Amino acid sequence: MSAKIKSAPMTPLLGLEIDDLRALLPATEPAFRAKQLYEAIYQQRAASFDQISTLSKSLRDHLAAHHTLGHLHQDSRYQSADGTRRYLLGLSDAKSVEAVIMPEESRDTLCISTQVGCPVNCSFCLTALMGLERNLTAGEIVGQVLHLAADNNLWSDQKRINIVMMGQGEPLLNLAAVLKATRLLCDPKGLNISPRRITVSTSGILPAMVELGQAEVRPRLAISLNASHEEQRRELMPITRKYHLADLIDTCRAYPLRPWEKLTFEYVLLRGFNDTDQDARRVVSLLGNLNCKVNLIALNPGPGISFETPDPDRVASFQAIVRRSLPCFLRRPRGLDIYAACGQLKRMESNLVSLP
Ligand code: SAH
Ligand code: SF4
Repeated sequence: MSAKIKSAPMTPLLGLEIDDLRALLPATEPAFRAKQLYEAIYQQRAASFDQISTLSKSLRDHLAAHHTLGHLHQDSRYQSADGTRRYLLGLSDAKSVEAVIMPEESRDTLCISTQVGCPVNCSFCLTALMGLERNLTAGEIVGQVLHLAADNNLWSDQKRINIVMMGQGEPLLNLAAVLKATRLLCDPKGLNISPRRITVSTSGILPAMVELGQAEVRPRLAISLNASHEEQRRELMPITRKYHLADLIDTCRAYPLRPWEKLTFEYVLLRGFNDTDQDARRVVSLLGNLNCKVNLIALNPGPGISFETPDPDRVASFQAIVRRSLPCFLRRPRGLDIYAACGQLKRMESNLVSLP
């Protein structure tokens, strides 16, 4: 395939919806061809054009001459002692993106990226140090799920798949691609994953939160709160200067939750900075009357990050206060030894076992 140079670039099919596919098929083809092609890409998950037996050989050749399927290729894979695996996946322009699988007892959580790097610049996050390289396309977002699911044999028990858009990037600065990817992931004729099993996490891009709330097919929403008052949040998350904490809470209050849904607030605990009992009480008064739960994450440290992880008893005390008013969980770190844990995704070359 790489012999085809010079002429128009080969465009990927992964990421296209049925109307997009209809538009690129020759006009002589009947309308149901687009549906056959769509099902081959997302339902049968064909690995090559040759495998699409519902299409004629000549149509397959035509497609292969102008398009790639668009699957991502694995640059490396790192294995943690706790079972977590971190993948570096190559994109068509020689950039790469990270995705992580965390196997658990009752489910397998895939943590996927929505941008290469991130422009939001939170001071506790390693991804921030990369800056933004570019947005991912819907195909590149779905491609991460396809790659990890295939490599870990997840399609055999698809109901276990859980997806969190909490890898590199700020998803709500790439909302169109995130929503398109979500439609492909959730479509019963696509990858058929329930929207209840997909969560998107944001640093609080307010206009995009409003838009997300209006989308017909949308994931659950998590908000990275990380601070208990405006000044503190400005120091940690400069985006707060544009979208103030009080407005973030108002936007959350107005967010149209579905009957089965709660908001999730994430709170990274930083030793001596936002982890006091007083912070915990302020979190309760900020969130007290929202339909939500709180996930605490003790900071995952990294080179270039000036904060430290709080002691476990400080974390426990914080959690105990919040839990009196709201469901509050402590997220245990996964894949710390391979730079796969929250906020650690920066394409680190781990010195642990690199699988072939
Ligand atoms: N950009 C989005 C999603 C990716 S970050 C967002 O900020 O929500 C996913 C989560 O990791 C966020 O809740 C963020 O607060 C958290 N995080 C970032 N850096 C971290 C670190 N060093 N340790 C623990 N959690 C971190
Ligand atoms: Fe970006 Fe999220 Fe990291 Fe902030 S915490 S820099 S928004 S990835």
